[in-house]
Amino acid sequence: MKVLVMNCGSSSLKYQLINMENEELLAKGIAERIGIEGSFVKHETTGKEKVVIEEPLNDHKAAIKIVVDALTNSEYGAIASMEEITAVGHRVVHGGDKFSSSVIIDEKVQKAIEECAELAPLHNPPNLMGINACKEILPEAPMVAVFDTAFHQTMPATSYMYALPYELYEKYKVRRYGFHGTSHKYVSDRAAEMLGKPLEDLKVVTCHLGNGASIAAVKHGQSVDTSMGFTPLEGLAMGTRCGDLDPAIIDYWMNKENLTIAEATNAMNKKSGVLGVSGISSDFRDIEEAAEKGNERAQLALDLYYQRVKKYIGAYAAEMGGVDAVVFTAGLGENSFIARKEICKGLEFLGIKIDDEKNNVRGKETVVSTGDAAVKVLLIPTNEELVIARDTKNLVG
Ligand code: AMP
Repeated sequence: MKVLVMNCGSSSLKYQLINMENEELLAKGIAERIGIEGSFVKHETTGKEKVVIEEPLNDHKAAIKIVVDALTNSEYGAIASMEEITAVGHRVVHGGDKFSSSVIIDEKVQKAIEECAELAPLHNPPNLMGINACKEILPEAPMVAVFDTAFHQTMPATSYMYALPYELYEKYKVRRYGFHGTSHKYVSDRAAEMLGKPLEDLKVVTCHLGNGASIAAVKHGQSVDTSMGFTPLEGLAMGTRCGDLDPAIIDYWMNKENLTIAEATNAMNKKSGVLGVSGISSDFRDIEEAAEKGNERAQLALDLYYQRVKKYIGAYAAEMGGVDAVVFTAGLGENSFIARKEICKGLEFLGIKIDDEKNNVRGKETVVSTGDAAVKVLLIPTNEELVIARDTKNLVG
């Protein structure tokens, strides 16, 4: 059984083809600049040369057509014909409170995803475009939706409710949903496997630190709290997103600078976070480099970022009544030994102790805490695509 995993953004589309007999990656790629001049598909079949296909990609359908052509190309493809694609698994960002697990996509599900688009206007519409395009190009392949929000549907009301008038929740479903659920689930499952303990016995804090960043408290295998909320803007400071802040700032800032709501929202999403504080970049590599050269704002951006992660680890340990393991994943979590070290510094009182030598690694599954540490600190590269492919296989059968 071969599963095509699709992750559709507004102007890009990432894909992987996975052989589910052995979970082997057959091919992967990305279509970029969909609907924009200069579009192309970068495709790589495992064991073959990478190719770049420059073609006008007017919409998602055109992009998926090129992707299927690339997958079946006799020279650089991975399969002989598109009939070999048994099923398609789609990443869908927002499932609202309707979906607590992955589902086979039918008319009803598609309508429900459309209804959730109001809650994720930047994400769900392109996800739907991908679903519609695949329906046309691969009409025989069953499709599955895997939601970023689903894993966090186990949160209790004390975690998901805002202290706002209750009607806001009743009328408009204003509540915390959480995101990156597929990643938090994958790494917490792997943590239990690596520690050789049942997940049901563990309290794990999972730190997904990429360009977007969130933390989850995973108690006995269930998400009981997470840092992103109604939208992916809440919680940690991120590459360009502000994370937690006093909501009164928005009105004050808008008045001072004569901003519209859209401008203020845009600034909080795209001009804030470590980019906003450092004034340098949203990429941690650039900021770490500038900080090393003595740039004070770069150092402040990093310190502020680390402190927030630390604060959430402490909060979630308190919420769960203890913590057995802390997991680092995603771009920064997997690659930056400085970030892991600085975040864990000062948490020795909880039993968290990093081993500098073991921590000097990038991108591989390993334990980075000292042998005697009560709380294990793990580095686990995330694999959201594999979770999507597994859920697709399980549902399609
Ligand atoms: P992601 O969203 O998971 O792809 O993560 C992207 C983020 O990871 C970017 O902000 C990068 O700066 C960061 N990142 C990737 N590699 C490194 C590295 N070697 N050192 C520090 N940060 C890194």
